[in-house]
Amino acid sequence: MTRVAIALGSNLGDRLGHLQEAVKQLRNNPLLEVVAVSAVYETEPVGGPDQDEFFNAVAIVNTQVSPEELLDAMQEIENAQGRTREIHWGPRTLDVDILAMGSLVMNSERLELPHPRAHERGFVLIPWAQVDPSFELPLHGRVADLAVRVRDSGIERIFEADVFDERNQDR
Ligand code: ADP
Ligand code: MG
Repeated sequence: MTRVAIALGSNLGDRLGHLQEAVKQLRNNPLLEVVAVSAVYETEPVGGPDQDEFFNAVAIVNTQVSPEELLDAMQEIENAQGRTREIHWGPRTLDVDILAMGSLVMNSERLELPHPRAHERGFVLIPWAQVDPSFELPLHGRVADLAVRVRDSGIERIFEADVFDERNQDR
């Protein structure tokens, strides 16, 4: 089994609903075992055009699928929620990024692991450190150590992780 960290982000439409639906789809995939999901953080957009604040969360998953198969599955989840790719780094209903797959380091046309900006983004590191502080981010070090060094202004914990409990999924 490989331990995988997945970042979820939404800043368009029903932001919480998009994250909840993404977690539901991760749980419904028989090839993935969701072991933890973070709280939801509201965060100021970083880069890209002027746009609304994001909701961000991180999920921890165990799996045996290949990196490419995992990316396919993540893109299916994005597409199922109406994700279109018009403006680079622009507003999106749902962004699902693979932060890291165990200790794997790779860079192919479709996939770079670990994610090239994960180690410097507060909106990734703060929720990640909450659910898996001892994860060793390849090339960069322990997630908890990276998280304490990152800027946390503009990142506000807005919902507890129980919004992802199965009984709270149908609002
Ligand atoms: P971003 O997440 O950088 O805002 P997109 O979600 O539009 O941009 O993704 C652009 C491309 O990034 C995807 O089509 C995918 O092939 C590629 N990609 C490279 N590495 C990763 C990764 N670790 N996780 C997710 N997508 C990745
Ligand atoms: Mg993405």
